[in-house]
Amino acid sequence: KLDVQNVSKSFGNQQVLQQLSFSVQDGEFVSILGPSGSGKSTLFNIIGGITAPDTGAIYLNGQDISGLRGNISYMPQNASLFPWRTVLQNVLLGEEIVLGKTDEEEAREMIAKAGLQGYEQAYPHELSGGMKQRVSFLRSMKSPQSMICLDEPFSALDEFTRAEMQKWLLSIWEKHRRSVLFVTHNIEEALFLSDRILVLSNKPARIQRELVIPFERPREEELVLSKSFLD
Ligand code: ATP
Ligand code: MG
Repeated sequence: KLDVQNVSKSFGNQQVLQQLSFSVQDGEFVSILGPSGSGKSTLFNIIGGITAPDTGAIYLNGQDISGLRGNISYMPQNASLFPWRTVLQNVLLGEEIVLGKTDEEEAREMIAKAGLQGYEQAYPHELSGGMKQRVSFLRSMKSPQSMICLDEPFSALDEFTRAEMQKWLLSIWEKHRRSVLFVTHNIEEALFLSDRILVLSNKPARIQRELVIPFERPREEELVLSKSFLD
């Protein structure tokens, strides 16, 4: 369980987050919507331990993880791949750091499933924006932590690839019961994926509205993946 407690953050005299509090239960899928510039990525950087909050704290299963990296699988908004590592090495990074061992075969399967077969040994500068975004997504999915934070993971993808990635994310989420915190500007995407949606107000960001999705998602076995390069 993730608890965000009274988190505030200002940059100079601009207050971006004000006393923000919410929780994500184990196995829950929560999406965050909010205007551009309202502070979603700032919040994610704080949860991921990249940025320190001015006040408040982040708890994971009751333990204060504020300012600590590596407890959460975090995909930042701008795919931050390591330029000196290949696609395969980037995908394996989380496992390498957290577990000290890697499952290369599974990584290769995931790379192929994401339509990137043949690019295992390519370097990030050889990839398109959408390809880099998928590598970054794969890295966070391959990373073993139970809590995953994804900041607009599919924003650079075409509609078709995005739909495939959404279904794949749901099937992985269903199978392993990981908890997901997800930022998107796409309301349809949030409705399709989430158990609950938090809508942030513009600066300072506070939870303006909370929406619990009243219907069940299709089960994994009902998620029929269309015939595509993902098959
Ligand atoms: P988008 O939907 O466009 O990604 P966002 O909700 O993720 O927007 P943030 O990136 O969190 O928004 O930015 C929130 C505000 O904080 C913006 O006004 C931005 O200029 C400011 N900001 C973010 N990081 C910094 C920083 N390191 N220094 C100064 N200001 C910052
Ligand atoms: Mg952002």
